[in-house]
Amino acid sequence: MHKPLIAGNWKMNTTVDQGAQLVMKLRELLKGIQDIEIVIAPPFTSLQHLNFLLADTAIKLSAQNLFWEKNGAYTGEVSGEMLRAVGCEYVIIGHSERRRYFGETDETVNKKILAALREGLKPIVCVGETLEEREAGRPVEKVSAQVRSALNGLGPGMVKDLVVAYEPVWAIGTGRNATPSQAEEVHDSIRELLYEEYGMAAVNDMRIIYGGSVKPTNIDSLMAQPNIDGVLVGGASLNAEDFARIVKFEKSPER
Ligand code: PEP
Repeated sequence: MHKPLIAGNWKMNTTVDQGAQLVMKLRELLKGIQDIEIVIAPPFTSLQHLNFLLADTAIKLSAQNLFWEKNGAYTGEVSGEMLRAVGCEYVIIGHSERRRYFGETDETVNKKILAALREGLKPIVCVGETLEEREAGRPVEKVSAQVRSALNGLGPGMVKDLVVAYEPVWAIGTGRNATPSQAEEVHDSIRELLYEEYGMAAVNDMRIIYGGSVKPTNIDSLMAQPNIDGVLVGGASLNAEDFARIVKFEKSPER
């Protein structure tokens, strides 16, 4: 059984002060929780300050993106080394908003994953089908292709710390979540693919998490699925009480 991972993607929200207020509330609400890995992904500008505020807590930091080069003339970009230096343990890679608005491709996602691992960051790699692909009956096909290209060139020794986030594009920020069984079907197929590619030993520690309109009202049924090892939460992670309720999901007897 994997330690569940609950991650909050703040996207382009919160100034440093607003982020600090949210973190102060989370510190209180999530005090003492040890059986869940809790991660927040604030904007770059808040990372350093929030790292100080989180120093004596179990809440971990993630960035929302990185660039694959180590340093140099890449105006506006941020490297893995810079993220490590401000306390990040994780980095989200290939979020559908980055694929849609900023030209991320399977190829750039792959380069970013390799760079993240090289710098000692744990990648949270986002994959997911569009509504058209789901309606055409091809969610598994699309997601499998994305996972294969994302992991191109990674050996079995490299995937242990990698997290795959299944985020159906039609469910992100729409209030329309995949049903637990729709999510479970895709998670199961991702796990199978990973086993085939890397073998049981390499994949046992890997987590496959779900994202797409996760709320306090649907978290319990999602987390009751055997292949859902956690969630990536967008909108609801900006409300401390909602995020805390998601972290404190009701555990099914098998978990
Ligand atoms: C996300 O940004 O990864 C996400 C899942 O957003 P939301 O929860 O708002 O759908």
